[in-house]
Amino acid sequence: MSNDAQQPATRAITAGRSNGGRALAPTLWASSVWESTDLADANRRATKLRSTEFYGRYANPTVSSFEEAVAALEGAESSMAFASGMGAISSVVLALCSAGDHIVAQRQLYSATLAFLQGPCQRFGIEVTFVDGTKPGEFAAALRPGRTMLVIAETPTNPLLEMVDLDEIGALRGPITLVDSTFATPLGQQPLAHGVHLSLHSATKGIDGHNDATLGVVSGESDLLNHIWSYSVLHGATASPFDAFNALRGIRTLAVRTNQQAASALHIAESMQDHPAVSAAHYPGLQTHPQHDLAKRQMRHFGTVLAIDLAGGRAAAEHVLQNLHLAHVATSLGGPETIICHPRTSTHLSLTDAEAAQMGIGQGLLRISVGLEDPGDLLTDLLNALPAS
Ligand SMILES: *Cc1c(COP(=O)(O)O)cnc(C)c1O
Repeated sequence: MSNDAQQPATRAITAGRSNGGRALAPTLWASSVWESTDLADANRRATKLRSTEFYGRYANPTVSSFEEAVAALEGAESSMAFASGMGAISSVVLALCSAGDHIVAQRQLYSATLAFLQGPCQRFGIEVTFVDGTKPGEFAAALRPGRTMLVIAETPTNPLLEMVDLDEIGALRGPITLVDSTFATPLGQQPLAHGVHLSLHSATKGIDGHNDATLGVVSGESDLLNHIWSYSVLHGATASPFDAFNALRGIRTLAVRTNQQAASALHIAESMQDHPAVSAAHYPGLQTHPQHDLAKRQMRHFGTVLAIDLAGGRAAAEHVLQNLHLAHVATSLGGPETIICHPRTSTHLSLTDAEAAQMGIGQGLLRISVGLEDPGDLLTDLLNALPAS
């Protein structure tokens, strides 16, 4: 069976094996340097794009295997790994944009992405226009022909699980388009199939899936990635072989993990939205989600993260966090343990109250990354922790 005919769950098993020889598990190449046989060989290694057997900052066979697996899942010609999701985002932005250039980005972005665009980018003279990613036409209206080099979207968004229409991003002409697809995982949606140029993940999250790697990855056409590589080899946000090894191991179980986590997330979201202590539940799989139809059109599953608004505000959030016994209070997502965070005092701490209110991030908001525990146990833990009403 050709790779193209395989279902995504099968690809997650078959992909990323070309550097592995006859070993079934990934091989960890810790070496940061490779030797040459003669000067001609040394020259070939030093000048080849993304040369895997030259020097660790250029490329590494374990990292390449991880990249090959992600490319197979994303339906991409090529993928490139970075030291973190932010390493990927900052490298792509600085590879593609110069002083005087313009970026259109959505307002509902991961907080460090937002901070990067508002801080360093501004300092370097890269202008950014922020739009509401959920409103049709806002990206297109903000483009400045000849000046806009990059469009940055994120879907589903953090922490409110809002959706951006991937067809709309894919139809934009002129700039390079980038979608941060972390919350969907490569099995939840395929931005490239909608015409988007670059699909990006914090592989620290669902792709690795075990809370034991810090890693980012970008996928797209080889020419574009080679161009990004020729900047990133100088920037140096190089992926660690050990983390790529862990994440490639994680990919093998991505389908079974995300299917179970998405099913549990829907089950919990449905129970939460009917609970008197909860004023709103946010999950793209809910019929009541304002963009549920869009989610159904572009997602294979609705993701592993949901959010709830507690009617009792900050006191109620505090009550829940103090009374959980199974779920952990922490900030990441996509791992085996259920993790709950209070965005207003962690991921979205730097916002003013007015900005937070405008973004819908209140003191009663909790983000829940649903893990692999039994869904009944999880729901019991959450119901027991909620205030009486
Ligand atoms: C975590 C995350 C990032 C940043 O990734 P790191 O691996 O922490 O650098 C970017 N985007 C989204 C949506 C994330 O959840």
